Amino acid sequence: MADIVSMLEALNEQQREAVLENERPLLVLAGAGSGKTRVITTKIAYAVEKLGIPAYKILAVTFTNKAASEMKERVGVMLDGNSQVEDCTIRTFHSFGAWLLRRFGSEIGLASNFTIYDDDDSLSLLASCFPNYKKRELDPVMRKISYAKDRALRPSDNLSSLKVDGTFKRMYEAYEKKLRNIGNVDFADLIGRSIELLQEKPEVLDWVHRRFSMILVDEYQDSNAAQFNLLKLLAGQGCFICVVGDDDQSIYRFRGAEVQNILSFPELYAGTRIIKLEQNYRSTKHILDVANSVIQHNKGRHAKKLWTAKTKGSKPNLIYIQDEQDEALRVSNILLSDKKFNESAVLYRTNAQSVAFETVFKRLSIPYKVVGALQFYDREEVKDSLALLFLLTNEKDEVNFKRMINKPARGIGPGALDSILSFASQTDGSIFAMLRLAIAQNVLSAKAKSGASQFLRMFEHAQAMLGEGELVDCANFLIRESGLLDYYQEVDSQNSTGKVGNLEALVNALSSYDSSLEGLLLFLEQLSLDPTTLGREDPRDKEGVTLITMHNTKGLEFDRVFVAGLEEELFPGRANESDDDIEEERRIFYVAVTRARNELYLLCARARKIWGRTSFQHPSRFLDEVDSSLVNVQGIRPGSFDTSSYQGLSSLGEKRREHQQSSTSSWGSSGGSLIQKGFGSNAKTFAMKTVHSEGETGVLFPVGQRVYS
Ligand code: ATP
Ligand code: MG
Repeated sequence: MADIVSMLEALNEQQREAVLENERPLLVLAGAGSGKTRVITTKIAYAVEKLGIPAYKILAVTFTNKAASEMKERVGVMLDGNSQVEDCTIRTFHSFGAWLLRRFGSEIGLASNFTIYDDDDSLSLLASCFPNYKKRELDPVMRKISYAKDRALRPSDNLSSLKVDGTFKRMYEAYEKKLRNIGNVDFADLIGRSIELLQEKPEVLDWVHRRFSMILVDEYQDSNAAQFNLLKLLAGQGCFICVVGDDDQSIYRFRGAEVQNILSFPELYAGTRIIKLEQNYRSTKHILDVANSVIQHNKGRHAKKLWTAKTKGSKPNLIYIQDEQDEALRVSNILLSDKKFNESAVLYRTNAQSVAFETVFKRLSIPYKVVGALQFYDREEVKDSLALLFLLTNEKDEVNFKRMINKPARGIGPGALDSILSFASQTDGSIFAMLRLAIAQNVLSAKAKSGASQFLRMFEHAQAMLGEGELVDCANFLIRESGLLDYYQEVDSQNSTGKVGNLEALVNALSSYDSSLEGLLLFLEQLSLDPTTLGREDPRDKEGVTLITMHNTKGLEFDRVFVAGLEEELFPGRANESDDDIEEERRIFYVAVTRARNELYLLCARARKIWGRTSFQHPSRFLDEVDSSLVNVQGIRPGSFDTSSYQGLSSLGEKRREHQQSSTSSWGSSGGSLIQKGFGSNAKTFAMKTVHSEGETGVLFPVGQRVYS
């Protein structure tokens, strides 16, 4: 039985007030590390134990799956022995959407076996609607479509706020139509179609209202318009709603997040009680001082007091180093001096920065884990195998069919493919029915016919296996029978890569799921929702130093934090753009610094290799905003080197910006969180390149992270 009294006693007065307020809508607006998340977990325990609210009536929404599982764990500890814990719905917005649509999607014509397209699949789908365009041209269109969806704008809506023309509208419409015909959803649809469901089906809305009587939302400052609309629908009459957040930590504007959502909450919910938390329990005063001195340069913010009782500790260090190698070495030296690997994290602005650290850590035998860099799930061989599984679950899945029908080659060229797809209208979109017709009606060449027959037989057999034998056997069968295994064995032997090992890891991950269509769907859903995890493991649970982008550190904390690459055009990453952009970067700085409990290191290099060429760096403007009395400075600050007068640097500047764009768009692609799905092929290519160069030495762990020890 949980001890509610001691749980409440462990809180400060404001936190306790927040836990005890269960009538009026509640907004907890507070700075980093002030216990917002703790308030949510305690509220859940209090509601179940003290207020007698059944756990299944509670919905808690977090920002990442990792945060959700941590929250479940914490609530589990608090409610020790209470069997209801499992009934509590603790999910991200997207996984909540998936959950709702699996149950009720059929009400709006969505079959329960839908799968979730990632950005790559979505782009392929768009390309299949517009074959005359190059993917490069479609990439920005696809991003805009996602953006529109994040803003809760459908093709039929007034899209003028997106500053797009009629062509875009037409493309958005075509994409949407095709996606619906296939019967799958894209990532943003998990929210969008949930809204549609609740708006169009009053009985479902009613069910939801009866089901949930308490809704709690963490990291509310990063919710987007669509999520905001969904939340509005979810909270019915008499439902208690509490959101917590920090406007200074809003860092997903580029994904449509609207900090306005948190500031306008009291207007939407009349009678809202606002509670501010002012004590930070995470960081030392030295660290908070650095964070505050920078964030106070932002104009449009709510002034907040944040204090800490942790007045001891050492001053943060500002270290000037030569280049990225030097940066990694310096960090390594510190790590090796006390070997507190698990308690340390290196935070960077762009995924590409992990490479230098990985190389040096490997050489020095420092154990580490990369959270999110190149996702296991994004690897070609893994995507191929998954494509077969996706097709197995939804036989209308044209995107994955096209990916795999001739891979490895089985004599089906573009002409044969067109012939097969020409039966679409007679077959209601079923790929297998199209194949059967194409074979029966002799429209294929002998070679194509044999390839198509073999492909079809393979799926018929796999369908029979599914549900009968083990899921693992079914996956193994598809990987072998499709020729993928032989194909990647050959690739491995030629390039000394470890692709077959990855296929094996994929199958291993499947082994913990039920051997049924539902099990397979759950597995695919889990992967789509949190691509950094393969199956139920999470790279962040492994031993070693954490290498992670600043965006992914949301809500996390570490004893020691290194913030790497504090240089103009890297961080802030989009120099010379609007003040709003700079303010967002400043909030990212604030998030990064406030992850540290006791030790903070800020690193700034004089030069850095970008696309293989040396670029001379300027210290980040954020360093100028830190009062020099707040830090111990090591090394010499680079002088103001005038890059414009340096021969050849203007083109380098171009390169640098190119790099910036591709890698900044990949922030999203890294680790752990849902929002991270927003990246384009640009970013992906870039990430591929990065990892390819380490591919020879990297050992891939089953969970998609590389661990060297
Ligand atoms: P962020 O803004 O980074 O998400 P947060 O406001 O959600 O931070 P928490 O993660 O809930 O803050 O808390 C930060 C740390 O302080 C955690 O380690 C938490 O256990 C601890 N903490 C919170 N409240 C208290 C308290 N009253 N007494 C002791 N420790 C506390
Ligand atoms: Mg938190």
